[in-house]
Amino acid sequence: MVDCLFCKIIDGEIPGDIVYENDSVLAFNDINPIAPVHILIIPKEHIATLNDLEEKHTQTMGELFLAAKKIASDKGISESGYRVVFNCNQDGQQTVFHIHLHLIAGRQMTWPPG
Ligand code: 5GP
Ligand code: ZN
Repeated sequence: MVDCLFCKIIDGEIPGDIVYENDSVLAFNDINPIAPVHILIIPKEHIATLNDLEEKHTQTMGELFLAAKKIASDKGISESGYRVVFNCNQDGQQTVFHIHLHLIAGRQMTWPPG
């Protein structure tokens, strides 16, 4: 059993400000938002990094993006726009090792990212 912060949020051991949930994904507000909208969308199955993806995760990965689309619509940001990001390992600045799709919106983004 891995000791994982996001698995604890899934299990209800740690409270999460949940904005969306279905059988395979959970979405909750980031505790330290970098934009007016900053939501983390995670698979309910523990997957540590993008490097751990396997063929069997194809459906779940699609579910993460469909959840992002639905949440964006619910939040009224579909047309104004948003950014979705996965960070992977040290250079990608991943700090929680349960994959999560950042959904970020509500201000003008810049490119390239830092
Ligand atoms: P990463 O840097 O791994 O891509 O993103 C991890 C994200 O998790 C960060 O944006 C951070 O603010 C968020 N985070 C860390 N701990 C918690 C927590 O306990 N609850 C919530 N909701 N977000 C967290
Ligand atoms: Zn986990």
